Amino acid sequence: MTPTAGSAAPGSAAVGVATAVPVPAPRTPPVPGTVPTPGATAIDEAPPARDLRAVNPSPEFLRLINHDYSRRHLVLSAGTTDGVERLIIAQTTGPLAVFNVGVRLGRPVEPEIHPGELIASAIDRAYAARAHGRSDTSGDGLAPGDGPEVPKVTIEGSSDVERDLEAAVREAESDLLSTQGKAPTVRLVDLVLFEALQRGASDVHIQPVRDLTLIRYRLDGSLHTVRELPGALAAGVTTRIKVMARLDVAEQRSPQDGRATVTIGGGVGASSGRRIDLRVSTLPSTYGQRVVLRLLDPARSPHLLNFAALGMPPEVVHKFLAQVSKTSGIVLSTGPTGSGKTTTLYATLAWISATNGGEILQKDPVRGRGRSGGGHGSELNIMTIEDPVEYDLSGPGLSVSQTQVDIKKGLTFAAGLRHILRQDPDVIMVGEIRDEETARVAVQASLTGHLVLSTLHTNDAASAVARLVDLGVDPFLVNSSLSAVLAQRLVRKIHAACAGRGCSECLDTGYRGRLGVFELLVLDPAMKALIARRCSAPELKAQAQRGSGGGMVTLREAGSALVRAGITTEAEVTRVIEALEATDEVVT
Ligand SMILES: [Zn+2]
Repeated sequence: MTPTAGSAAPGSAAVGVATAVPVPAPRTPPVPGTVPTPGATAIDEAPPARDLRAVNPSPEFLRLINHDYSRRHLVLSAGTTDGVERLIIAQTTGPLAVFNVGVRLGRPVEPEIHPGELIASAIDRAYAARAHGRSDTSGDGLAPGDGPEVPKVTIEGSSDVERDLEAAVREAESDLLSTQGKAPTVRLVDLVLFEALQRGASDVHIQPVRDLTLIRYRLDGSLHTVRELPGALAAGVTTRIKVMARLDVAEQRSPQDGRATVTIGGGVGASSGRRIDLRVSTLPSTYGQRVVLRLLDPARSPHLLNFAALGMPPEVVHKFLAQVSKTSGIVLSTGPTGSGKTTTLYATLAWISATNGGEILQKDPVRGRGRSGGGHGSELNIMTIEDPVEYDLSGPGLSVSQTQVDIKKGLTFAAGLRHILRQDPDVIMVGEIRDEETARVAVQASLTGHLVLSTLHTNDAASAVARLVDLGVDPFLVNSSLSAVLAQRLVRKIHAACAGRGCSECLDTGYRGRLGVFELLVLDPAMKALIARRCSAPELKAQAQRGSGGGMVTLREAGSALVRAGITTEAEVTRVIEALEATDEVVT
């Protein structure tokens, strides 16, 4: 692995090294997508028409969903993009079938509606091809990719962001006809980002609808529409963001991904300012390009958090740390997208690094930070393969080498993991185990003296065992490699200032901030005996609750404890935990 391993992550402090980025005037009005397929109006943004003869389903779909189910519900994979399974469905396909496929595959799904008869023949072709033994081989042997150069932009804040935003919108509107008027759109985007950060948003969505462009912020996991911009501004705003992330401004029909670093509050040449990393994704939709910006604030990097701040109760912290202190085995963090799995693993890597010769960030992992030990990094070789790298873990006292998945260069999770194994690692984090090959290499790694941390997309801890078996890991190997599974969710906390009644500060939701809810399953001998007999997830769960050392506290029980403590509400616990548990239905 080259020293550029961490370069996909945002670089080191680059305060005030701002480049003025020129903004080309919008060339054309937004392309209003391609013509929606009949029936596609059921989905608010119709995808471009797809030639179903050229469709290439993911191998996992063909393996985990049987031909009969696929035909019965007219649902077929069109491959995966960034971990999302694209599904082709018919008008008649039920939402439950779509949902079940997602649960079965263990990844989020995105359906597109197509004519039923075309889907039926595509399904038959796909399963016939599989039966004839055509197999995909993922590329290997490529060096880890150099991360793209990340542009840096300085944005100015505002003392009255609301008022200034209104002004910027008016200015940008009146300026549309001007040939030189670029500044108002730049200012508008700056202010939107500034406001989003001020409110603590994790994502900003710019979503064109019929006559408007919605600006939506994700706060504590939920989307809020905070502003409606006149539709005419959409092209300018999108262009500005694409320029910031060095995307191809002229390309409006294909999805694009990019990154940028913005410094807030420091002008050009200024030596202060808060640095934020942005991950930008664009997707064509019926009314123009949809843009999502993920805001990554290094000041909130999870490695700075202790386990108590994540919401982990002391008894769970002690049991969990006992498992991640081992020098081999697999420890999994599970939950749906957005449940805080990666945050927990980052905190874990930081703890491992700190307790093995790195700077002592957390003398007491439960209560908080101790003194600074002034070490020069961990005595362990800690390496990650992630998709994408969200936070830079190469700070003072930390020595984690992070590599980003790059599908175009053949750097998959499995390939990255094999490269890492040639780099003499002690601790490995694999962003996600979502295919057979990655599962196999992870098991091998854990059996040959490496501690492997990873995530799985399952609803509870016990289901992770079944999922590994689904992915082709023999129960015997699960028993010899898997140490523990930590399932988790994030529940919103009642806004203390308004006692949950709702106020302007919490956008009338009554909630502010989130806290983790955890369920830790440790594989003891009794559990391993059940796994060897291929017992079901509910049987494993029941055994864990009876288990040694006090038994497992389930997500539901942990959630109820938070309700009793007045931290969250029953409704929130039900929304986050039970709604998902109820869908644990077998598909094939
Ligand atoms: Zn409030």
